[in-house]
Amino acid sequence: MIQGSTELVAIVGSPIAQVKSPENFNRWFTDHQQNIAMLAIDLQHSALQDFVKALRGWQNMRGCVVTVPYKQVLASHMDSLSDRAKALHCVNVIRREPDGRLVGDIVDGEGFLNAARAQGFSAQNKQALVIGTGGVGSAIAYSLCEAGVSRLAINDLSQERVEALGNLLRRDFPDVVIDLCPASLSGLDLVVNASPVGMDASDDGPMPLPAALMETLTSTTLVADVVTSPVITPFLAFARRMGCPIQTGPQMALAQLGNLGHFMGVTPLQI
Ligand code: NAD
Repeated sequence: MIQGSTELVAIVGSPIAQVKSPENFNRWFTDHQQNIAMLAIDLQHSALQDFVKALRGWQNMRGCVVTVPYKQVLASHMDSLSDRAKALHCVNVIRREPDGRLVGDIVDGEGFLNAARAQGFSAQNKQALVIGTGGVGSAIAYSLCEAGVSRLAINDLSQERVEALGNLLRRDFPDVVIDLCPASLSGLDLVVNASPVGMDASDDGPMPLPAALMETLTSTTLVADVVTSPVITPFLAFARRMGCPIQTGPQMALAQLGNLGHFMGVTPLQI
């Protein structure tokens, strides 16, 4: 029950009814007898400046998870940013310091890596392909480079985005070979769909790569999707038929909870 003494965290975005963080965090706070609660805030864009101002003065608010469409715009309002949030100009979590300063980070990539590690994947010296270079794909690509991949291919419908992310990764990770999508997927250790392709699709719905290229998958490649609904996207269903291990979007989302909570100072890193 929320009481006068309850400390708060929030998730802010619009729309917000579909997000799972409040139920996941509130269950954890209850199970661990923490007098903390998470609120879901559906924020109108015109109220963004006022929201940031209120956040600074909101003394029982510890922090805020950020979702679409505010991940980029809120990065501009932080007092300080982690190196990766600065490089990607994107935040998905904010900590409010006791003096009201706001600090931002983006931990989508860490959540992705936690989920992959849980099934035995190590990024060190591996070769990966990330499809989709938007907010989530860029964060995953950045974390894969931080974790030591030797080669990373990136693919997007927008060549401009591929070029921009490629330049940024080459600058920050000169030892990693940054490539375009290869002609064959064989030999890759990891293929990730970080585009929205497959969202709300049926079994035979669209995939983010042509079927002929998907046929080149070999069964040693970990195939992952960030899309959370359906849990098994057409892309993952295809990979499973090819005998590949798979990782789902909800697995990534759950594996990120500790990173979000820890950054806001309300949970340990691993929950
Ligand atoms: P975004 O709009 O910032 O980026 C999506 C990118 O995908 C764009 O650059 C777009 O050009 C590209 N794209 C679209 N179709 C493509 C295709 N056929 N081939 C290659 N690239 C293509 O979106 P985002 O914020 O990065 O979110 C992407 C997905 O991640 C959404 O479905 C979102 O729901 C999901 N998501 C999952 C989690 C999780 O924890 N699992 C967390 C956040 C977001």
